[in-house]
Amino acid sequence: MHFYSRQILLDGWDIEAQEKLKLANVLIVGCGGIGCTTAELLARAGVGKITLIDADTIEVSNLQRQIAYTAQDIGFYKADILAKRLYQVNPHIRIESYITKLDASNAQQLIINQDLVLDGCDNFTTRYLVNQICTQLNIPLISASAIGFQGQLFMVEGESACYECLFPKQQHASESLRCADSGVLATTPNVMASLQAHHALLFLGLAKTPLKQKLLLWDGLTMQQRILAFEKDRDCVNCQASHSAHPH
Ligand SMILES: [Zn+2]
Repeated sequence: MHFYSRQILLDGWDIEAQEKLKLANVLIVGCGGIGCTTAELLARAGVGKITLIDADTIEVSNLQRQIAYTAQDIGFYKADILAKRLYQVNPHIRIESYITKLDASNAQQLIINQDLVLDGCDNFTTRYLVNQICTQLNIPLISASAIGFQGQLFMVEGESACYECLFPKQQHASESLRCADSGVLATTPNVMASLQAHHALLFLGLAKTPLKQKLLLWDGLTMQQRILAFEKDRDCVNCQASHSAHPH
């Protein structure tokens, strides 16, 4: 109660909302610039079970923006070090970590028991796969990305449009923008991760979905934020596949 007292004091956030957080299972895909911050905020806020997945080790170039890691952690696995940090931050929650890539062989099993998936991965292959499995299993997804000075955030939930409705696969096949290739300011992924974690709390505690079927664009040069509504694409391969698998 003391740990969460500033939250429980909040108008519009009571013990019931706090208990919902405690009961929540959340998967965080990627322990990089976005995953580090999202995971820490959710741990502090009191999300009961956090599962981390990342195959990478910590490199010196990560320290500029990935706030869970220090110079002593270089060479160690991100998922391990982040899990340890979350335990230190909040010993009252459960953490599970996987040192592997999320791929077709493990995605279903990792996602099926979650209440929410938070994607902060650094590549389109994983992003499309997470979207596909979340749509198939009807698990809510909040996806955040940051590149250069720009950030994006959106939510897929229930019968809403999916990531592929918004960004059809064919159009993105040739692009492979990653921070590793194109650079990112220290703050940009942390802004987007904070927004992602905030949305996660609204959803888990209060069942609010302000970015369901909406794309939030954050421009780090002008500090402007725009929210665009988007429609379900009737030709979306992913939505058609999951609809025929689970007819309603
Ligand atoms: Zn779709």
